[in-house]
Amino acid sequence: MSVVADLRSIGTDAARSAGVTLLLAPQWDDPSCRAGGSYAPDSGFLVHHTAGVGAGVVDWLRGKTYQYKPIPAIQFCVRRDGTIVLIFADKCYHAGAGGPEALAGKYIPKDAGNSYFVGVEIESRGTKRVVSENDDRGITPAQVNSVGHLAAAWCRRYGRPITAVQNHKDWAPTRKIDTLWPASFWRAEVSKRLAVGPQTPAAAPPAPDFTLSLSLFQKLMREGGHHASLLPVKRTLERVLDLPKYDLGKGAKVNAKFRAAWAKYESSLGLKGNAIPQWQSVNALAEENPKIKVVN
Ligand SMILES: [Zn+2]
Repeated sequence: MSVVADLRSIGTDAARSAGVTLLLAPQWDDPSCRAGGSYAPDSGFLVHHTAGVGAGVVDWLRGKTYQYKPIPAIQFCVRRDGTIVLIFADKCYHAGAGGPEALAGKYIPKDAGNSYFVGVEIESRGTKRVVSENDDRGITPAQVNSVGHLAAAWCRRYGRPITAVQNHKDWAPTRKIDTLWPASFWRAEVSKRLAVGPQTPAAAPPAPDFTLSLSLFQKLMREGGHHASLLPVKRTLERVLDLPKYDLGKGAKVNAKFRAAWAKYESSLGLKGNAIPQWQSVNALAEENPKIKVVN
């Protein structure tokens, strides 16, 4: 398997086992965003916190607003509700200067962490060592669960022991404080989940039948019109919202009912629902129907 397929499958495996949604960020597999040089993602797994919370976190991690644009700043992000976002499925920048270290039998040279680690960013202000639903200075129980499953899925995929999982601060102790928990905390969480195994075996995702362009979908919902790729969206939406079959119309045309159903779907995901599709909701719908592949 390629690195991209490996990381996607780790995300799918973890989301299924944790019972959360896996979202694919725009350009999650775009090779033009990749950091240069070799990549051995089977060496180590790093846990970070974002030091900030809110919707802007994902775009920042995608590398859209920081100095290394367009190279993303992490592979995975775990939102407050435990949702896993695959930000970028290849080499990018997150480890920075640090090391060298020998980690569970693999040597990682000084300052070369980006070539050897897979990372996850936990959405948290990172100022208090507390696990709580309601305090964004710490992390939520859902985040502990999703990070545990992600690192466990990574260990399974590459046949690595829990001692290959550590914090960003373990790699860069003089520069970094994330996370506020010791590596032993994360390793214990991973160990529990490895003992149970994946809830359902991660099968290779079936080849999609429909390609849905996010920008075209947004344009059609804004201006009206029709396109064949809207048909599987309508049928999936009817199923997910428990509507009668063909309630949104038999054809591939945008109509008022379709717009209203879409807004309702976005609200059900906790997004500010309006008729203009957002990438998070489009990806969530595609997760419901593997025949749909979303492109930008
Ligand atoms: Zn970090």
